[in-house]
Amino acid sequence: MSDTTVSDGGMADEIRNVTIIGSGPAGLTAAIYAARANMSPLLFEGLTPGGQLTITTDVENYPGFADPIAGPDLMDAMREQAQRVGTEIHQDQVTKVDLSHRPFTLETSTGRTVKTQTLIIATGASAKWLGLPSEQALYNRGVSACATCDGFFFRGKDVIVVGGGDTAMEEALYLARLCNSVTVIHRRDSWRASKVMADRALRNEKLKFIWDTAIKEILDPAAGKVTGVRLINLKTDEESVLPTDGVFVAIGHQPNTGLFQGQLDLDDQGYICVTNGMHVGIPGVYAAGDVHDTVYRQAITAAGMGCMAALDAIRFLEAEEARM
Ligand code: FAD
Ligand code: NAP
Repeated sequence: MSDTTVSDGGMADEIRNVTIIGSGPAGLTAAIYAARANMSPLLFEGLTPGGQLTITTDVENYPGFADPIAGPDLMDAMREQAQRVGTEIHQDQVTKVDLSHRPFTLETSTGRTVKTQTLIIATGASAKWLGLPSEQALYNRGVSACATCDGFFFRGKDVIVVGGGDTAMEEALYLARLCNSVTVIHRRDSWRASKVMADRALRNEKLKFIWDTAIKEILDPAAGKVTGVRLINLKTDEESVLPTDGVFVAIGHQPNTGLFQGQLDLDDQGYICVTNGMHVGIPGVYAAGDVHDTVYRQAITAAGMGCMAALDAIRFLEAEEARM
């Protein structure tokens, strides 16, 4: 189980034991476990070093921090820990993978080619946004895409949830436990959400519903906080302003799995299908975190899955070595 040849300025023909794509909580936790098992893991960070948590402010639900920790600080600490125990980290974006035979081959944005005995995919997912300039301006200042993460900051306040799917229902029901009122704004007059979730939402007295309506603008970027939304009724074109303290965009997520299309089983939303722990159906390839998790989507769950994927990879390599 040793790393082999290195060329081309560092790693062109090298066969690594464990390579990890992604530097969010899943990827960095996988790296920490693989490094401490003496696997000399290689990790590619991609375009968002540190992952989704680097675009948030306070994280209050990651265990081990009595006081809130800033998302970027938490991810810096994880990166430092991964490096200290022996992870080799590069900023490259992985642009191509060949999982048809082992060792697997990866190509990156800087022209590196890497061969690896095992691969841990931790490329995460991204929330979909409405695409309004005011949404971007007020992001983290009252605009959020994660009720579990940010709902706490809106206790006793009035908030809006945008969307008509199960995620919107789930977010609205979660927020109803914390907020004074929750108004769900949906662009059509019928749910995409499952009947069970929609019925639960409709029965909740804290929830109000506005149908056939889109948000035209979130107010007020000039004030630096959310004060309301400008709405447009899509059937009548009538505009109105609804005061609110927060806007939760819940119109779905996009997993970062384009790289694996045609090589791995993806579900109809594009998430990687896993079975039996973190296995993806190709021996030696594992997926951890939001890239396959459509349910929990938390830093701690992603980290836990990163640990599981690394343990799976380590055991796979050890079993293979024992057979030799
Ligand atoms: P991500 O964090 O999404 O990381 C994915 C990584 O993959 C990135 O580093 C990216 O650069 C890399 N990548 C993608 N494609 C490639 C490629 N082709 N090549 C190389 N690298 C690639 N959770 C909490 O528990 N508490 C919170 O308070 C909290 N707040 C949040 C606030 C916001 C605004 C958001 C968006 C999310 C929040 N979450 C929170 C959720 C949490 O951030 C995610 O569940 C978690 O980051 C998922 O981790 P991950 O490692 O699976 O993926
Ligand atoms: P989804 O089912 O695709 O629903 C997205 C919703 O957002 C739809 O109502 C859609 O409107 C709306 N939307 C999309 N783009 C929009 C835009 N630009 N502006 C305004 N509205 C927009 O996504 P999801 O709710 O995240 O669910 C994804 C999958 O996960 C589903 O299979 C769901 O069942 C599952 N899930 C299950 C649970 C659960 O069972 N507890 C929880 C969460 C998710 P339209 O309806 O008009 O298209």
